[in-house]
Amino acid sequence: MDTKNLDQNYIANTYARFDLVADRGKGAVVYDENGKRYIDLGSGIAVCSFGMADDHWVAAVTEQLGRLQHMSNLYYTAPQTKLAKLLCEKTGMSRVFFCNSGAEANECAIKAARKYSSDKYGPGRSKIVSLINSFHGRTIATLSATGQEALHVDFDPFLPGFAHVPANDFETMKTACDDSVCAIMMELVQGEGGVIPLDRDYVAAVSEMAAERDILLIIDEVQTGNGRTGSLYAYMQYEIKPDIVTTAKGLAGGLPMGAALLGEKLKDTLTPGSHGSTFGGNPVCTAGAISVISRLDEEFLASVRAKGEYIKNALKGAKGVLGVTGMGLMIGISIDKPAKAAAARCIEAGAIVLTAHEKLRLLPPLNIGMDELREGIEILKGVLAQ
Ligand SMILES: *Cc1c(COP(=O)(O)O)cnc(C)c1O
Repeated sequence: MDTKNLDQNYIANTYARFDLVADRGKGAVVYDENGKRYIDLGSGIAVCSFGMADDHWVAAVTEQLGRLQHMSNLYYTAPQTKLAKLLCEKTGMSRVFFCNSGAEANECAIKAARKYSSDKYGPGRSKIVSLINSFHGRTIATLSATGQEALHVDFDPFLPGFAHVPANDFETMKTACDDSVCAIMMELVQGEGGVIPLDRDYVAAVSEMAAERDILLIIDEVQTGNGRTGSLYAYMQYEIKPDIVTTAKGLAGGLPMGAALLGEKLKDTLTPGSHGSTFGGNPVCTAGAISVISRLDEEFLASVRAKGEYIKNALKGAKGVLGVTGMGLMIGISIDKPAKAAAARCIEAGAIVLTAHEKLRLLPPLNIGMDELREGIEILKGVLAQ
């Protein structure tokens, strides 16, 4: 039986998949089972930071694979400590907890925030305020933090201790932050919610209020992190200093890895036995992450920003395009037709694009060449003009 039939017969039906059976790739080019070529403007939802089968990344991962593929976190391993040092030095954060996904990184953030508050203030100060239209993951705790009613249907009851407020409305945020609140959690560019950057003044005001009241600021950089928006982490462009930064997706360039970066206040919050993960900080994933993070220097990040500008300019005023949002190589496109069908037509025409609610979303490999980027955008423009 073919892959599509097998999928329908054996895989839980949680994804309405596009009609593409991916087989192999190199850089920003992916081939399907029949050898048809596609320009990849999605990177597996911002995961393959350096595209498919990047030479540097493959070498780093396979070298580690042949040496030591896993060791329990009961013992030390060098790649894990090396990556943690790299992340702390590049961000100014103090400690790293490694896990395997974005949801788990946010679970760690939720637990660390509650423990910080419990250690310092005792019980009853455990609420976390997040934003309407946010996305923080699919586990029950991270769904409780996620401010999208559509994702909550059928999964009651959720965890107590979460509140959702509208983005870019400081007064409502301030009112929500009563004495029961230990943390505020937000994406700086809402990704799944439609590639919507938060207002700079709003983020600055929230950050200042949170610091004054010892409310921890958790920035969810699962999608925006690791160079995606043109800085190592998006918060660096908002000129704030979060207490916790969570990340995953592009961190290890295609291997499952998440991390919660903990700031000075939380340096000693997590203690032996308070949290853990069997696979977290796995040496193979860590080797992939070192290969990704160590290449995201200022010159490279400038090229990410330049390519983002190229896309915005190329789409400005194009037929069928109503507006373009985003930062760096995280782009949302408002269009005059249903997004899902338009994405399917792009794929048929040879460009893999994503959607986010009613928009198209582009998250190309950070190192996509200009020729391939141009080719992908021309395909997209052709579909949108129809
Ligand atoms: C994708 C995403 C998550 C969830 O990550 P998983 O690895 O799928 O658990 C959480 N937050 C944001 C902002 C995301 O984009």
